[in-house]
Amino acid sequence: MKVSVDPERCISCGLCISLCPDVFDWNDDDKAYAIVDAVPADQQECAHEAVESCPTEAIRAE
Ligand code: SF4
Repeated sequence: MKVSVDPERCISCGLCISLCPDVFDWNDDDKAYAIVDAVPADQQECAHEAVESCPTEAIRAE
């Protein structure tokens, strides 16, 4: 599983980073981004939760 954040949609609410701090972090523009290329097995549950919880549907999982 891979995740990516669309910076145009991200409103910097911080939810994904709170839910899954080993997968998401802030970039230099204060938008969230995925810090891992492939989501580790033990992080998939929180990554899914972040995808489902993002208020602007900015996170795409593939
Ligand atoms: S939950 Fe969505 S809007 Fe909020 S920081 Fe993460 S990607 Fe951005």
